[in-house]
Amino acid sequence: MSAHLRRLAALLAVLVALPVLPAHAATPSLPDRIAAGWQTDRVFVDPRLTVPLSEVARIRAEAAKSSFAVYVALVPRTPYLRESLFDLPTLLQARTGQPGLYIVRVVTDEYWSGVEELYRPGGLKGRDLNSVKGDDKQRLDIVDNRPAPQIVRIIQQAQTAYDGRALPAASTTDLEPPRPPRRPSSTAKEDKGAFIGLGVGGLLGFALTLTLVLRRRRPGSGSKAVESGAVQPSGYQIEIRRQADQAITRAGQSIRKLEKRSELTVALLDRRDDANRRLDAARTLRADQPDDLLAVTGALVLARQARQAADGSAVRPPCFFDPTHRAGTAHVPWGDAVEVPACRPCAERLGKGKTPHGLRVSRSVGLLGRSHETVPYWTLDPKDNPMVATGFGALTDDLAERVSGRLDDVR
Ligand SMILES: [Zn+2]
Repeated sequence: MSAHLRRLAALLAVLVALPVLPAHAATPSLPDRIAAGWQTDRVFVDPRLTVPLSEVARIRAEAAKSSFAVYVALVPRTPYLRESLFDLPTLLQARTGQPGLYIVRVVTDEYWSGVEELYRPGGLKGRDLNSVKGDDKQRLDIVDNRPAPQIVRIIQQAQTAYDGRALPAASTTDLEPPRPPRRPSSTAKEDKGAFIGLGVGGLLGFALTLTLVLRRRRPGSGSKAVESGAVQPSGYQIEIRRQADQAITRAGQSIRKLEKRSELTVALLDRRDDANRRLDAARTLRADQPDDLLAVTGALVLARQARQAADGSAVRPPCFFDPTHRAGTAHVPWGDAVEVPACRPCAERLGKGKTPHGLRVSRSVGLLGRSHETVPYWTLDPKDNPMVATGFGALTDDLAERVSGRLDDVR
């Protein structure tokens, strides 16, 4: 199920639940029930759930290997948890009074998520669990349609946080299948697409066409020539990469700050989820295609937006013409019937009847693709390039989903 649908379902659940529930819809028996269950079994499975025994067995086996107590609770999503999930480890640890790793996993449809907290005995040696998680490059690849893979990984991460041992590689059966490679190709034969040379008047057609193209998009279809490294001054690319890295670090800091707030309301949780979604996509782009100017620029845009979301300021679209510019606060006509967000200088330039220089990438031309010319990125084929397709999120605010490949799940 796609992130979109899940989100919608969660929102609907809240809308349906809120009118009939009092403002503080506490079901305080939940922590009590879990703690009571833990007296006989440290893997608590809510009786409303059907969890395969093999999953429970894997969790037990990994917990048995760890050098601290592991308390696990598997529960269905309820309105109470929407309010109190983040307090649950504290509430539970207060009931047992024991140090250890406390993991609460919540299932919505078939999607598992949750919280965890490591309470260490005797002093505060070792690393922060969140920092170990943040460094775990496989974290985002662990499947979440069953509970054990994520829980096993959390136990491993906690072990690293606890005694500094190296984090083992995740089991391959716990990983999402690899994404189809986005290989840059420099063949010129497809360059004569309808998107090239449309110029100012063509954007509406461009937007409509790309929608059609995207609907028909198939995995593995050839990606378009974008060899930004060859022509862009390398200093420029290094600078954008540096800015992207800085933005990613700052977004992470903002999210951690948000998560430390004592009361995480539904609105704050939504902001955190939005920020995480954008930040994860930024990290994916930055890690997968460090030498691709479009990808690194996309990472910069998404990381900036992740920080805006976490800080609670409005998430702003980028300048359509050059997303490395300041945010697109002006809306300027572009083409016959389209408005695009633009930064002040680009808007002013357009107001004088000139086309902004724009973010330029190289495109191979000629029969053998031996020579290169630089072109504004929006003249490239949007097929298979989410940055071009969305104008870096300026045309449609779904760059993060497209990068994560989740839009394909809907179809
Ligand atoms: Zn601009």
